[in-house]
Amino acid sequence: MPHPPDSPDPPPADRTPPVGTAFVSAQDVEDADDVLFAHPPRPVTRWMCGCGEPYPCPEVSFAHLVKHARVAP
Ligand SMILES: [Zn+2]
Repeated sequence: MPHPPDSPDPPPADRTPPVGTAFVSAQDVEDADDVLFAHPPRPVTRWMCGCGEPYPCPEVSFAHLVKHARVAP
């Protein structure tokens, strides 16, 4: 039995809470705790160039371009 090639997904449930909701259920608070536990903020480490810009800075990018370019004989 062939599977329909383009079966649409069911529409997502509208979980958007109304703006200005003053009362939340205990379940909502529990869910919020779970979300906050699962989404801890974490610092992002990234390469910084010696000149103070995010690596590679434009000069390094250009230098790499030059290094990888074919040198005319
Ligand atoms: Zn630099």
